[in-house]
Amino acid sequence: MFLNEKPFELIFLGPPVSGKGTQTELIAKTLDIPHVSTGVILHSIKSEVDNPLAQEVASYMDQGQLVPSELVNRLVAERIKKDDCKFGYAMDGFPRTFEQAQFLDQNADVDRVFLINVSDQTIIERMSGRRVCKNGHTWHLKYSPPKDPTICDTCGEPLFQRDDDKEETVKSRLEVYHREMDGIIKFYEDKGLMTKIDGEQHIEEVYQQIVRSLVMDLRSKIGWK
Ligand SMILES: [Zn+2]
Repeated sequence: MFLNEKPFELIFLGPPVSGKGTQTELIAKTLDIPHVSTGVILHSIKSEVDNPLAQEVASYMDQGQLVPSELVNRLVAERIKKDDCKFGYAMDGFPRTFEQAQFLDQNADVDRVFLINVSDQTIIERMSGRRVCKNGHTWHLKYSPPKDPTICDTCGEPLFQRDDDKEETVKSRLEVYHREMDGIIKFYEDKGLMTKIDGEQHIEEVYQQIVRSLVMDLRSKIGWK
């Protein structure tokens, strides 16, 4: 019988504020596998003083430059070969481009890809309704509204909308996301690895669907109908 030695090489895809980071974290905790994200890898890079690749990447970041995609790829490949990934990992924030998906294909044996689907309209609503004050208190005009939409209830400072949350900015981010993601989705669909989850459901329901799908995969791997 074929036994996959690393049964949980899992990828989580989805637009911003789809809740994909939360789901990745939940699944990583449930399965006791590492949550691998490019954000965390890049964040912890400076502490890896003995790693020449990490130091090269850190020098880009110190200069405020974008880290070249090729270096990010190598970091991810290095990360998922570490001992703690012996049963797999739950990864989010990668791949972001079709080229990265192809790179991952050559450096990993992905078991399942989850796409947390949320409509553009919902994303725009979730982001454009956010208001913050200068002390970092965050409100949402619909989901956690302050008494006065222009004043922070916690500290009394004026509320404003961050540039990143403005409708036009969100729309252009979504355009980039779809442009890259369409190819990635097709890539994993052709391999039979893609599972789409409705991310507009309650967080608990999203989580349960992911777990159910993983159990189905395991059942078919051990031949239990
Ligand atoms: Zn405040």
